[in-house]
Amino acid sequence: PVRVRFAPSPTGNLHVGGARTALFNYLFARSKGGKFVLRIEDTDLERSTRESEEAVLRDLAWLGLDWDEGPGVGGDYGPYRQSERNSMYKQYAEKLLESGHVYRCFCSNEELEKMKEIAELKKLPPVYSGKWATAADGEIEEELAKGTPYTYRFRVPKEGSLKINDLIRGEVSWKLDTLGDFVIMRSNGQPVYNFCVTVDDATMAISHVIRAEEHLPNTLRQALIYKALGFPMPSFAHVSLILAPDRSKLSKRHGATSVGQYRDMGYLPQAMMNYLALLGWGDGTENEFFTIDQLVEKFSIGRVNKSGAVFDSTKLRWMNGQHLRAIPFEELSQLIGERWKSTGLLTESEGPFVDDAVQLLKDGIDLVTDSDTALSNLLSYPVHATLTSPEGRPIVEDKLSEVSAHLLAAYDSGELFGALEEGPAGWQKWVKGFGKTLKRKGKSLFMPLRVLLTGKLHGPDMGSSVILIYKAGNHGIVSPQAG
Ligand code: GLU
Repeated sequence: PVRVRFAPSPTGNLHVGGARTALFNYLFARSKGGKFVLRIEDTDLERSTRESEEAVLRDLAWLGLDWDEGPGVGGDYGPYRQSERNSMYKQYAEKLLESGHVYRCFCSNEELEKMKEIAELKKLPPVYSGKWATAADGEIEEELAKGTPYTYRFRVPKEGSLKINDLIRGEVSWKLDTLGDFVIMRSNGQPVYNFCVTVDDATMAISHVIRAEEHLPNTLRQALIYKALGFPMPSFAHVSLILAPDRSKLSKRHGATSVGQYRDMGYLPQAMMNYLALLGWGDGTENEFFTIDQLVEKFSIGRVNKSGAVFDSTKLRWMNGQHLRAIPFEELSQLIGERWKSTGLLTESEGPFVDDAVQLLKDGIDLVTDSDTALSNLLSYPVHATLTSPEGRPIVEDKLSEVSAHLLAAYDSGELFGALEEGPAGWQKWVKGFGKTLKRKGKSLFMPLRVLLTGKLHGPDMGSSVILIYKAGNHGIVSPQAG
């Protein structure tokens, strides 16, 4: 059975890179009818915090990446926090000591430093000399009797190579001669990261390890530990880095990089998921819009790209617009209406008004948060600025005065508001009659009218805009700050 895991270290927020790793694991599990396990890698006690763990769980849940086993849901392979699995690591370390895959190393830090210096002088790789690898039983007994602290060191074969068949990168192989025996348990009994991960993946029966490319060097050590423990090796898939537009490693200096920041900016989880999936994956067609169900249906690890993917925040924004407009209208209207209310833009939530406004503005926005400026922009009336702009000027000189005189008459007689009160049909009728009187149509009618009635040279459908502006003013449902 397919069992994959996402194993975040709770030392900060969920980064877009981590979210993409989680997503690929999730999609792989869901597409194979397997299990998606969440494991918290908090062996680094100094840097791990509960706060950060909670933030990571919250961000994963917001994205909709629900896990089958892990913190909060439990499961048969728990506990799911490394800090709670110490006895298991101890047990397997002892096992490796007994089988001779691991030995006790009594070297002090000073000795190890000296070894490094000597290796450097001889221009050799800075690896452990192997001093305690072949020690006689008597020597070991002596140190134990003295109470000398010791680490557990893994015995790495001195020659040969190791290879894995990576599902994304193909064959990856390492020569073993430069690795050197590495520590799996420190002298204070604290197990080392690579050892914990291996014991966890093995005892949690993980079938596929899908993780970032930067973990490749760890894979070598972990594969050796697998073999020594006699566990079957999982399949590995190492996903390439996410790059900034300048092709350097994506980092904070490139802007928002954490999932939480995007949520706070008003991004939709479904758009985020869609965009993250495209960072290194595609279904082989031109299509880029996918719902989560479609992703599950189409995803295949074999189609994940070997080269780095560029994170393009402009495209993510565009993609959000696509998903925003895919939301059923009623839901979208409610979402935006609530936002306008909560930001104080509307003094009360007028259902029909909100519906009309959302209908009019939705094509011009990519983010829910854009709707604030879109609405206040529509309702604001910078007519002076418009008329004195180089673009507006010819309209004033050529046509505006005649149109404005007639418009003023229509306003004074109450005819205009009467028409607006009737809605779109009233407006249509009025504007037709108005054009006839003035013997104008098309641009020469609509441009001056738009400027006079909306205060702008351009905008969404004029009739709907004017009706909304009229309603907003007449029913007092817009707070003063909107104007
Ligand atoms: N805890 C590691 C990280 O956050 C992931 C380890 C793994 O996936 O094997 O980078």
